[in-house]
Amino acid sequence: MTLSGAARRIRDLVSMDQVLAFYGYRPNRHGTMVCPFHGDHDPSLKIYQGSRGWYCYGCGRGGSVIDFVMAHESCSFRTAVLMLDRVFSLGLTEPGLDPEEDERERKWQAALDAWAGAAVRYCGLMKRVYEEQLRQLLKKYQEAEEMNEKYPMRMGPEQYAVLTAWKEDSEYTEFKISQADQLIREVKEWRRKAGRVRLRW
Ligand SMILES: [Zn+2]
Repeated sequence: MTLSGAARRIRDLVSMDQVLAFYGYRPNRHGTMVCPFHGDHDPSLKIYQGSRGWYCYGCGRGGSVIDFVMAHESCSFRTAVLMLDRVFSLGLTEPGLDPEEDERERKWQAALDAWAGAAVRYCGLMKRVYEEQLRQLLKKYQEAEEMNEKYPMRMGPEQYAVLTAWKEDSEYTEFKISQADQLIREVKEWRRKAGRVRLRW
């Protein structure tokens, strides 16, 4: 079904009452309510029955259920149609609402996947490099301690400086490993969210 076809069906199938209930608005018994789109005090937004929509006598906005969602979400016509279709489970727009749009969507999702995958692989690689560095540092440190036990002698300032440097290096390396972990988590979380909100694009 085309976008305009779906919009026509939505205007027939979804009443203003349903949309207002979805947003948690309750018109008074005269069928008017305080307009959410301008600084309204007296209810100046009139709700019409059936598919005749709404009109605000304060700010002059009005139209169908789709126009209401567009005003409320500050979104495009397309997004409003898709949103209403999903919210009221009408099944009008899936799949193939617009083959070109679907193709753009598919490419966009593939680009996101590729980017997130590359970021996760890069962070994973850096993490392994740092883990190897840490392993080497700990090994050197352990060997130095063993030598110290076998051949006890006073350590000079130079040996202390070396040991301190190794300790600082290993702490910094641990920090880099935790940073890589954090980045991997963030990229995955971001990808998950980007998939969910894709209708906004
Ligand atoms: Zn208004």
